[in-house]
Amino acid sequence: MNLSEGIVPPACLREVTAVEISWYGTAALCISHAGHKIIFDPFVSRNPNSPRISVQELAQMGDIFITHGHFDHTLDVPAVAALGKSKVFCSAETARQLIKRGAPAQQVVAINPGEIISNGPFTIRVLKGQHIRFDLKLMFQTLFNRRLVGHFREFVNIIRTLRNCPQGQVLVYEISWENTKVLHLGSLSLCADEEYPRGASVLCVPFQGRSDLSTYTLPFIEKLKPHSIFLHHFDDTFPPISSQVDCATFAALVRRLYPEITVIIPEFGVNYSIA
Ligand SMILES: [Zn+2]
Repeated sequence: MNLSEGIVPPACLREVTAVEISWYGTAALCISHAGHKIIFDPFVSRNPNSPRISVQELAQMGDIFITHGHFDHTLDVPAVAALGKSKVFCSAETARQLIKRGAPAQQVVAINPGEIISNGPFTIRVLKGQHIRFDLKLMFQTLFNRRLVGHFREFVNIIRTLRNCPQGQVLVYEISWENTKVLHLGSLSLCADEEYPRGASVLCVPFQGRSDLSTYTLPFIEKLKPHSIFLHHFDDTFPPISSQVDCATFAALVRRLYPEITVIIPEFGVNYSIA
């Protein structure tokens, strides 16, 4: 009898390979496990003062999942797809727009809420999402601001770009492996008629689009009760529409109300292990 048959090594001796999550500015995230990577909403045509990853690097990373069609989530996706072999998973309307903008049609896969996709070690469940509603105060602060004068050319470019990058259906992704889940939101709202998993290891929260983000986000935390919150989209990557959002106030609020939840304010390109 082979002595190794039927013998399971104790947990401490098993090889444990971490799943890691990293942020590449705006809403671009990468989740990786044992060298297999998937990326979300890559966007590099950013404020030249922001750190950036190149289209070439993104093209080598892995398949791409899109949460919705807005320019800060899809503008560079055709270029990334065209440079590599990555598949691009997105809603039907975003698929049409991406192909129109030059993404190779054979790499673009239209998906719907309810679908389950196997990708390397990950199982990805597609859920219905909803886009954040910008509040009047933020719109007022953005439009009646000296920054608009300083960034007027960028403002006009963004307005022009909006036409080619309609929102389309908003998708939320639940990424699972073994007993661990990441719930990834690309815009901060939820559908009343969708069931979202509670208690995910990580909830990815886009932190941009309202003047009251700290308090606005709390009901979502209460509903989803994740073990940790991974903030993204808080950087000023497309001024004058975006702004650098204060994450520390929100992190302090969560620490006080939910001391068991960890808030991660990631640094660009740094890998964070998911337990
Ligand atoms: Zn959006």
